[in-house]
Amino acid sequence: MKYTKHSIYLVLMLLFVSRGYSNVAISSIPQSSMVPGGIAVIPTPMRAVNGSYREERIMLADFEGKQFAIIGIPLSVGPGTQNFTLTTTDGSEQMLAFQVQDKSYTEQHLTITNNRQVNPNTEDMQRISRERAEMDTAFSTWTDNLEPVFKMEPPVEGVRSSSFGLRRFFNGQARSPHSGMDIAADEGTPIYAPAPGIIRATGNYFFNGNTIILDHGHGLISLYCHMNTIDVEVGSIVKTGEQIGKVGQTGRVTGPHLHWSINLNNTRVDPALFLTN
Ligand SMILES: [Zn+2]
Repeated sequence: MKYTKHSIYLVLMLLFVSRGYSNVAISSIPQSSMVPGGIAVIPTPMRAVNGSYREERIMLADFEGKQFAIIGIPLSVGPGTQNFTLTTTDGSEQMLAFQVQDKSYTEQHLTITNNRQVNPNTEDMQRISRERAEMDTAFSTWTDNLEPVFKMEPPVEGVRSSSFGLRRFFNGQARSPHSGMDIAADEGTPIYAPAPGIIRATGNYFFNGNTIILDHGHGLISLYCHMNTIDVEVGSIVKTGEQIGKVGQTGRVTGPHLHWSINLNNTRVDPALFLTN
């Protein structure tokens, strides 16, 4: 049997499809920040078709003629070596490493008047775990046909009241660190999509209140919480600058604000890394 050039291309294409080939051309790239809650931007030493880190698929992107692995680093990792895996065009797997530097985040103490929002009862806990699963499914979405954008405008005009990574205490009790950025604004202030995407989830959640999850493609997904109103529906396609909702104080809050978080490979990273100013 004689192989033509076309049939060889077809076989290669099918191989890429069956291995979940994914790479995207991007027009902006984040600054590498190899700290807990940061983003590792690593030029690939060989052409890769797929990659994973801590069992999550990672973004592979072409920027100015070079391919990069763009990896969200969890707040929970300590300083030291982190490994990730790339699958190359010939199907072989290569393990690579990067070094995480130490970063200390300060403490924040908050007083919540509704004690159930600090120590939820059994019924609340059932609701919380159901909602976590729902949000986790949305955060794990992978969309190939969207170009992720790394340079964003703040989604709302206001004061940055609480930054990412703060070690939080509610009514004196240690809780999860702050996984996003808080922007304080009056109730009803419009919230705009900071980048194009598809709405993957909306809901009224126990801690997060009225919430939107917006998918920007290739594992880049943003979250908007404590909203007064939600102005979009699941499946809506939104453009940069399109209004998606309004600032409110639903869920666990001490006043009206937007809690904005960004996920990369299902990992919360610092939204400040995406802001152009
Ligand atoms: Zn917050």
